[in-house]
Amino acid sequence: MPSKAKQTPMMVQYQEIKDQYPDAFLFYRIGDFYELFNDDAIKGSQLLELTLTSRSHSASAENQIPMCGVPHRAAQNYVDILVDKGYKVAICEQVEDPKLAEGMVKREVIQLVTPGTQTDTGIGGAKRNNYLTALTKITTGYGFAYADLSTGELKVASLKNFEAVINEVMSLQTKEIVVDKSVTDDERQHLSQIGILVSHQDDVTAQSELSYLTQDVSDAAQNAVLKHLLTYVVTTQKRSLAHLQRAVVYQPSYFLKMDHYSQRNLELTQNIRTGKKSGTLLWLLDETRTAMGGRLLKQWLDRPLVTRDEIMARQRKVGALVKQYFERHNLQEELTKVYDLERLAGRVAFGSVNGRDLIQLKTSLNQIPKVQHVLGEFEDGTFDDILDNLDPNDDVADAIEQAIVEDPPISVTEGGIIKDGYNDQLDQYREAMHNGKQWLAEMEASERKATGINNLKIGYNRVFGYYIEVTKVNLSKLPEGRYERKQTLTNAERFTTPELKEKERLILEAEEKSTDLEYQLFVKLREMVKKNIQRIQTLAHAVAELDVLQSFADVSEKYRFVAPTLTKDGHQLRVIEGRHPVVEKVLGRQKYVPNDILMDDKTTILLITGPNMSGKSTYMRQLALTVILAQMGCFVPAKSATMPIFDQIFTRIGAADDLISGESTFMVEMKEANEALENASANSLILFDEIGRGTATYDGMALAQAIIEFVHNRVHAKTLFSTHYHELTVLEDSLSELKNVHVGAVEKNGELVFLHQMQDGPADKSYGIHVAKLAGLPDSLLTRADQILTRLETKDEQDKPIVAATSSETQFDTSDTDSPDTMAVSSEQTSVSETPKTDSVQAPAAFDDGEDTQLSLFGTPEPTKKHTEADQLLKQLKELNLMALTPMEVMNQVYKWQQHAKRK
Ligand code: ADP
Ligand code: MG
Repeated sequence: MPSKAKQTPMMVQYQEIKDQYPDAFLFYRIGDFYELFNDDAIKGSQLLELTLTSRSHSASAENQIPMCGVPHRAAQNYVDILVDKGYKVAICEQVEDPKLAEGMVKREVIQLVTPGTQTDTGIGGAKRNNYLTALTKITTGYGFAYADLSTGELKVASLKNFEAVINEVMSLQTKEIVVDKSVTDDERQHLSQIGILVSHQDDVTAQSELSYLTQDVSDAAQNAVLKHLLTYVVTTQKRSLAHLQRAVVYQPSYFLKMDHYSQRNLELTQNIRTGKKSGTLLWLLDETRTAMGGRLLKQWLDRPLVTRDEIMARQRKVGALVKQYFERHNLQEELTKVYDLERLAGRVAFGSVNGRDLIQLKTSLNQIPKVQHVLGEFEDGTFDDILDNLDPNDDVADAIEQAIVEDPPISVTEGGIIKDGYNDQLDQYREAMHNGKQWLAEMEASERKATGINNLKIGYNRVFGYYIEVTKVNLSKLPEGRYERKQTLTNAERFTTPELKEKERLILEAEEKSTDLEYQLFVKLREMVKKNIQRIQTLAHAVAELDVLQSFADVSEKYRFVAPTLTKDGHQLRVIEGRHPVVEKVLGRQKYVPNDILMDDKTTILLITGPNMSGKSTYMRQLALTVILAQMGCFVPAKSATMPIFDQIFTRIGAADDLISGESTFMVEMKEANEALENASANSLILFDEIGRGTATYDGMALAQAIIEFVHNRVHAKTLFSTHYHELTVLEDSLSELKNVHVGAVEKNGELVFLHQMQDGPADKSYGIHVAKLAGLPDSLLTRADQILTRLETKDEQDKPIVAATSSETQFDTSDTDSPDTMAVSSEQTSVSETPKTDSVQAPAAFDDGEDTQLSLFGTPEPTKKHTEADQLLKQLKELNLMALTPMEVMNQVYKWQQHAKRK
């Protein structure tokens, strides 16, 4: 960088401004362009595919600096591209008229556009919120707040730990989080790693004009994080925030808790493979007719309810809408014509609203009486709470109706917006313009006659004003001195006359005054609407709610859902002929086989066995989706359903089956299983799908069994546990709350046919070889596999797992329930070189294959020769007191063994 002294005044100004926004692209306005300089230009030209040029910034020509530019009219596009990519853009305008400026034109940043504050989210963005989040840390936890600047929504919560923070930011799909010094480097890094832009805002300035937003918030930490968020918003936006709604305190515990992993895994709003909406529960449920309804549906899906009364209040409305088909249909028709009231309100506040937006607002408001009318057709009381908030805002609609023409232009500064007859002065200007133009037409006609030039015409352009145009061929017909020459074109000459000049002055003056006045009238109307923003927002929310409820009803009817019965107490679960609605929709109704899910008060675990690809995972997800639908207030895909209200859902998919995270390892799988074991209550739902499959057979099976026992004896959550270890099915004999079910399959002519049907009892085989056959593996290989299988099966008796630990004779130390430090592994227990502790309460009988323990998987004939190494390992295994260890400890032990074995 050359010294400042040498720089041009403009570059000095540029640098001063750039220094205030080091982490943003600075769009520096020069005339009709925004220019980027230096590093901004180099990076920007790549990201935006612009030509990189250079500019001399000093007197000497050799010092060139890189630059690139975009025309200001097209700037929005470029800003959006950068912001969508996670960057910030500072828009720097000329804030005084260059003609009047003395020296350098004054420039200021008028807005900092960031991923979380972007309000024009473009096509497809209407049904999504764009949330800006904020985080601060206090000794007891975290203050967390979020806002959507386009709709004005503002929420705040206290969160216990960082895990909860991650869950919130993932489920809100925030693109930007504002933090202060209290948030550690590690935490910031974690947030950036999951793709969130971390913005720093350390000073908090009092925003007195926004203090009403926080008046319902008493908690100090929540207040602090809100101030923090608002300071950031004010400093970046520099524009009216009148549409921000009073902060609402929420607590994640008011809702059915699902971590983001479960949300993704169940494909609630995002398809695992494509990341898109298609193929998700949201996709199935979305029959909303308005953008507001679309966004609210997603919010409800992210946060199903846990309070029976609230759920039933929604369910009753859905029931009424299902029953009254014609009214529902009418309601949909009326809602279709309601525009995005929330975002219109936002634009009013920002002052970015135009004539067309106001017409949309009016049209929407005019729909409300029709909506009220339809709701009147329902039984009294059904929709009272919604009707209370359906205020058509007549005064606002009338004011717009009177002022704005039906089809206004996009621009608000070029006239043509205000109706005739609305304002006397405006009418007079328009009259003058009209008369002037009339006069011009008459002049044109009379001049043609006088000169005999039939194509003589009177025209207008911005630079030269009004002119009389005569083509060159006809010039000879023109009497010398009739007009004054004004401009020469290739084929024509343009002229004027003193009269024409005078008319021009009058017309242009009237035009200018008229557009000025129109703009003033428009702004006045806008301010009037602005005063009513809160009423419009209340209305918007009521409309959104109604829209989601009709969508539920629509879907419930279309896919034959029923109203679930939610029990007040007890843990009975009875889903008759339940379906996975999304799989059913994709496969087609004919192909989908419905299934019952039956768990009485005393059953906590369903152990699901069955061949690969038979429908185990689908069955488990089916239950989770049914629970989520029920607790959202929607009907459920079944013939009938009775269920308790769940507090949390955990889903863990075995690493081998985990489609989501390529990086998923067995360790991750175990950590996540542990998360469920630690946090689930007796009112939770756990889905463990082939857990333990990510490791070798025996340790996987050992872990699976230990986990089942732990859930059975300690957690008592309703649990669906699918496994390909059919050996585990014997647990039913010893664990009273466990029930076996399996997916039926039949072999026909050596081929396997899946019935996709759940049946009581254990599966007899794992059918893996048949699946391999279907997949077309070579015959010789399959024959060999069959041989090995037969050999293994003759050992079947010994392979059965050990007798399970039951609650009466539990081996788990129940005294440490409050400190579930299951991750901690005591070193003396796991060191392979030492002899493990030999409490030998119960010698583990499983895995004990006797002397000829080496299975000849790879063709070595039995008996095998003994390896002292293997013997030692086996001895340790035998002596290991499995029941005294937590799953994590077992896992660590097995891991050490494996490491040890690999070194050999
Ligand atoms: P698993 O977990 O047992 O390997 P999945 O649940 O992944 O099996 O199901 C495999 C496939 O079987 C699914 O993709 C789906 O196409 C089909 N399927 C599953 N359940 C059913 C059902 N109830 N009716 C019809 N097809 C089903
Ligand atoms: Mg599966």
